[in-house]
Amino acid sequence: MLARMGFRPIILERGKSVRDRTADTFGFWKKKTDFNPESNAQFGEGGAGTFSDGKLYSQVRDSHHYGRKVLTELVNAGANPEILYINKPHIGTFKLVGVVEKMRATIQSLGGEIRFQSRVVDVAIEHGQVRGVTLASGEFISSDHVVLAVGHSARDTFQMLLERGVYIEAKPFSIGFRVEHPQTLIDRCRFGEQAGHPVLGSADYKLVHHCKNGRSVYSFCMCPGGLVVAAASEPGRLVTNGMSQYSRNERNANSAIVVGITPEDYPGSPLAGIDFQRRLEEQAFALGGSNYEAPGQLVGDFIADRPSTSLGSVRPSYQPGVKLGDLSQSLPNYAIAAICEALPAFDKQIKGFAMEDAILTGVETRTSSPIRIKRKEDGQSINTLGLYPAGEGAGYAGGILSAGIDGVKVAEVVALSLLQNTSIKH
Ligand SMILES: Cc1cc2nc3c(=O)[nH]c(=O)nc-3n(C[C@H](O)[C@H](O)[C@H](O)COP(=O)(O)OP(=O)(O)OC[C@H]3O[C@@H](n4cnc5c(N)ncnc54)[C@H](O)[C@@H]3O)c2cc1C
Repeated sequence: MLARMGFRPIILERGKSVRDRTADTFGFWKKKTDFNPESNAQFGEGGAGTFSDGKLYSQVRDSHHYGRKVLTELVNAGANPEILYINKPHIGTFKLVGVVEKMRATIQSLGGEIRFQSRVVDVAIEHGQVRGVTLASGEFISSDHVVLAVGHSARDTFQMLLERGVYIEAKPFSIGFRVEHPQTLIDRCRFGEQAGHPVLGSADYKLVHHCKNGRSVYSFCMCPGGLVVAAASEPGRLVTNGMSQYSRNERNANSAIVVGITPEDYPGSPLAGIDFQRRLEEQAFALGGSNYEAPGQLVGDFIADRPSTSLGSVRPSYQPGVKLGDLSQSLPNYAIAAICEALPAFDKQIKGFAMEDAILTGVETRTSSPIRIKRKEDGQSINTLGLYPAGEGAGYAGGILSAGIDGVKVAEVVALSLLQNTSIKH
C-alpha cells in the first residue's frame, strides 16, 4: 500500500525468500533438513499464512471494504479471481507461494525494498519517539515511522519491546489439539446423498460447545481435505496447525479443537501467555519423543482416558510423524475436561465426529497472539510515537484477511502522518 502511494518502504524480514523458505520448511517436515528457527512455517517471506489453507474470510467489521482491496491485490498477484465472489474463498498452499513472489515483484517495481534474513533486534526510542531499528547484523536503519507487523510468534521481539518500555498487555487466546477425520465422513454429514459431487468439493464445518466448567470449546482453522503441519518456530518446542492445497483432496479433514483461555489462566507479566505457550509446547515436544514427532491419541482412547497404542482406520497426516500415547497431561486439566465433554457433543452435530479412530495431535497453542501492543486511534503505540503495531502479532488481526485489512488501515495512517510532517517542514 505504501509503495502504491509513492513512498519507498523498506520491508525487513527475518526469514528467507519464499522459495528458500519452502525448501527449509518442507525439508524439515520430510526429515530431510534440520529444523531452522529462522525459516519455518511461521517465519519467512509471506508470513505465517504462506503454508496454509489460505482461507480468506474474516469476522472483522470492515465498513470501508478494505477486504475488497486485499482480495483484489491477491488476484492481481495471481490468485484465482473466484476469490472475489465465492463464499468462503481460499487460495491453497502452493498457489500462495507464487502470489507472494508476484507481490514482492510489484513492491520492488514501485520502489520498495525487501531485505531477507534481516531480523530486527532492537528499536531506538528517544523521549517516547521511535528513531529507528537495529538488525541482527548490527546495522542501524534510521526512521521515525516503523510499522511493527511481526506476527504472533516473534517472541524474542516482544521481549525486546517490553524491555524498551513499549506498552504491551496480555490478551486471551486458545489452546487445544488438531483432530483428523476421513473427509468422506464430513462430506456425508454435510452433503448427504450429494457427498462426493465435484461441484460441492470437500465439506467444512464450524462447531462450538459451552462446557459445564464454564469453558467454551470450538473448532478453528478447519482445513477440508488437508494436512496437519508442524508449525513450531523455536527449537525443542512443538506446535500443530493445518493447511490444504487448492484442490483440498487429501484423505483427511482436520481442524483445531481449542478451548478459550484468558490472562486469569496465566497471571503475571504481559508476556506470561508466551511462557504458558512455551511450557505446553515443551511438554508436547517431550511427549512426542523429543524429535519433532507430535504426540497423538485416538479420540476413543482420549475420551475413555487410556493411552493409544495402535492406529485404527484414520492415518495421521502430520509430518515428521506421530507418536501415539496419552494426551491427558499435555494441557491443563480444565482444557482436557472441556475437550472430553465437547467431542461427544460435536458428534451430535456431525455423526462420527467422536469416532474411535479419529486422531488427535497436539498441541495447538498459536491460535492468536497472546499479547496486544495497544495503539491509539492514529495507529501509533499508546506510549511510543512513530511505532505502528499492526496485524496479528500486535493483537489486531486473527487471520490472513483481517491482517491484510489491518495493514491497509495502518498504511493509510502512516501515509497521513508522513504527509503532515512533510507539509509542516515545507
Ligand atoms: C500453518 C498455518 C495455517 C494458517 N491458515 C490460515 C488460513 O487458512 N486462513 C487464515 O486466515 N489464517 C491462517 N493462518 C493464520 C495467518 O497466517 C495469520 O493470521 C497471518 O499470517 C497474520 O499475518 P501478519 O502479517 O500479522 O503476521 P505474519 O504472517 O506472522 O507475518 C509476520 C512476519 O514478520 C516476520 N518477523 C517476525 N519477527 C521479525 C523481526 N524481529 N524482524 C524481522 N521480521 C520479523 C516473520 O518472519 C513473518 O514473515 C495460518 C497460520 C499458520 C501458521
